[in-house]
Amino acid sequence: MKYSVDKEGFYGNFGGAFVPEMLFPNLEELEKNYNNIINDKDFKTEYNNLLKDYVGRPTPLYFAERMSEKYKCKIYLKREDLCHTGAHKINNTIGQILLAKRLGKTRIIAETGAGQHGVATATVCALAGIECVIYMGAVDIKRQAPNVARMKMLGASIISAESGSKTLKDATNEAIRDWINNPLTTHYIIGSVVGPHPYPDMVAKFQSIVSKEIKTQLYEKEGTENPDYLIANIGGGSNAAGLYYEYLENDNVKIISVEAAGEGIESGKSAATSVLGKVGIIHGSKTLLMQTTDGQIIEPYSISAGLDYPGVGPLHAHLLESKRAQFISITDQDAMKAGLEISKLEGIIPAIETAHAFAAFNYLEFKKDDIVVVNFSGRGDKDLNTYIEYFDL
Ligand SMILES: *Cc1c(COP(=O)(O)O)cnc(C)c1O
Repeated sequence: MKYSVDKEGFYGNFGGAFVPEMLFPNLEELEKNYNNIINDKDFKTEYNNLLKDYVGRPTPLYFAERMSEKYKCKIYLKREDLCHTGAHKINNTIGQILLAKRLGKTRIIAETGAGQHGVATATVCALAGIECVIYMGAVDIKRQAPNVARMKMLGASIISAESGSKTLKDATNEAIRDWINNPLTTHYIIGSVVGPHPYPDMVAKFQSIVSKEIKTQLYEKEGTENPDYLIANIGGGSNAAGLYYEYLENDNVKIISVEAAGEGIESGKSAATSVLGKVGIIHGSKTLLMQTTDGQIIEPYSISAGLDYPGVGPLHAHLLESKRAQFISITDQDAMKAGLEISKLEGIIPAIETAHAFAAFNYLEFKKDDIVVVNFSGRGDKDLNTYIEYFDL
């Protein structure tokens, strides 16, 4: 089985570029150039230097002793929470800003829901001295005031999307419209392994630094590059894609993907795409998404903003269909409990997205010598208010 993208941008039955004709030139320019740029020696040097000195890589691979004792296996945490801005998202935005510069672009646009991708984008635009315009739903602007403030401090302009439900998908529509109108000057930074080809492949390649580092780090600690299990949470699937990337063709390394069940798979308030998703097109990509029988996207829900996406990237749809990955859906309640548990066991407060991955341990069985690597996708500071309200802290 092959897990890399083919020439048309497909992973098995999923992927491609289903966009209005007016976007063809933009995507073609990107498609023609991205691999050459990413593989260029000067690009690699600049990218790796920034990852080291600006982002703070390599992030540690930490042996979680107390957690390992509790779940009776060897648990390692890949500490993406220690990246600058507190999560893995910056691995991708740094890559894309350097790529945009090499394409001669002078302006960046992005859409954001909870604001995390907006902040990661505004950060690298400040770093590169490039104009930054962030589209955000009017409802999200109200809900996510701290991230709006961060983006403003970083010099970004924020444009409020006032149509539809005034949330992420409306912001996406406006960003796409902007890109159609400004094809020469502007690069559109997408924040996960979603969207039309070549975005899923490009973002996965920028995030692959996660598994590249793990190979070296695990070899030093365990004398093998290969864990028995990889566990990651999945919103669009970028931190998961980075964790899996170097291991996709190695069937001895089992893959567990954890998505958000919200208030329960059958509750009508969830984001459990692996169970509820049907084949359709979202964000220019053919993939699994939650939709009504007449093809309307169902509003997703999860207590964690990063996981309430109504689909998964095409790579993940393929990993699910081919049974390369096992999917587990975790409720808000289980995730919040796990977030508190890992804080107390290891002294690390996780993002609620990350906490979903830890809740999966209650539904899995491991052997004592199994090496399990969990992607610790982000730190919990941004979620403190949710923790406070939920546990009455
Ligand atoms: C955005 C985010 C996620 C989900 O996005 P993916 O593209 O699925 O990785 C997970 N964890 C954290 C901390 C995030 O900020």
